[in-house]
Amino acid sequence: MNPGCPILATPLSLGWETANLNSTQPSAISTGYNVVSVSSLIPSPAPPYRGRLAPSPTGCLHLGHARTFFAAFQRAHAADGTLVMRMEDLDPDRSRTEYADAALEDLRWLGIHWHEGPDVGGPYAPYAQSQRNPIYLAAWRRLVQRGFLYPCRCSRKDLAVALSAPHESANSGQDPLDDEPVYPGTCRPAQIQMQPTANDMQPEGCNWRFRVPDGEAIEFNDLNLGPQRFIAGVDFGDFVVWRRDSKSGPPRTGLRPWGVGVPSYQLASVADDAAMAITEVVRGADLLKSTARQILLNRALGFSNPSWFHCHLAVDHQGRRLAKRHDALSIRTLRQRGFTPADILSTDLPIEA
Ligand code: GLU
Repeated sequence: MNPGCPILATPLSLGWETANLNSTQPSAISTGYNVVSVSSLIPSPAPPYRGRLAPSPTGCLHLGHARTFFAAFQRAHAADGTLVMRMEDLDPDRSRTEYADAALEDLRWLGIHWHEGPDVGGPYAPYAQSQRNPIYLAAWRRLVQRGFLYPCRCSRKDLAVALSAPHESANSGQDPLDDEPVYPGTCRPAQIQMQPTANDMQPEGCNWRFRVPDGEAIEFNDLNLGPQRFIAGVDFGDFVVWRRDSKSGPPRTGLRPWGVGVPSYQLASVADDAAMAITEVVRGADLLKSTARQILLNRALGFSNPSWFHCHLAVDHQGRRLAKRHDALSIRTLRQRGFTPADILSTDLPIEA
């Protein structure tokens, strides 16, 4: 086994990204769904390709991850670009250092290499999300300052009850390809005040939601799957950007300060993609709707959008998308059964969970 995902001694990088986030002034002009910086109005060469691998260490990686991560590796390689390994270990209940170590080892065994990461360092360290809280807190504050967020005191139980009640909207139930049901709006205020003094605020004590612009079509061109379109408030609702603390004890990885809650995947992902100067995001098609949410977050924060390349999801022979429950299809298990990297990456491999 590799040493895995050590806690880096490097101090937190508080470079341009944090300085930029602490400003209350929009740093870009918003034109529809894309945010174009003033300097980009003058033709300039495209920034060098920077892609990322972003595993969540909540279980063993499976065959679907192998193929998506390999696609990310190939695209970075073809562009002669830089590939970043970012460990998305924000979930304090489910992230485990053993899984982070196993992910790095499995991906290397597949022949995937990265230029920056928790194990090799790099200019945007640290590369484990559990060590990047100041960056997420700065993004949260900027969103509060600009009037995009509201506190939500609904419990999981409240939401389950609200969502199981009959609704007029056909979209009020949970989408099987998405992780978050459309929020019924229980805590949503009619209007959100801007909070110029949010610099002193902390997100602790409640969840915080992003108020989506109801009815707005969020469109983007996916480099693999083509044009995409989602309607805010219909295909997805007000989403959580910061969760209050889990009750089950301190985080099991990283140095996350205990007490201020946890940024959501959506917030951490856009804050990190911007801070790490990522130009293209390659990930599974289950995250298409998250891309629509992240376009709204990028616009609200004044960040440019990267390009997106969403990969088809691997499914088992019953047509179910692979999940960490498919132990038999974990890269680990397939290795033990004698499969080679070429077998695993071949689309012909029979899938039997
Ligand atoms: N950490 C996420 C996952 O494992 C990937 C998120 C992303 O690529 O944006 O599903």
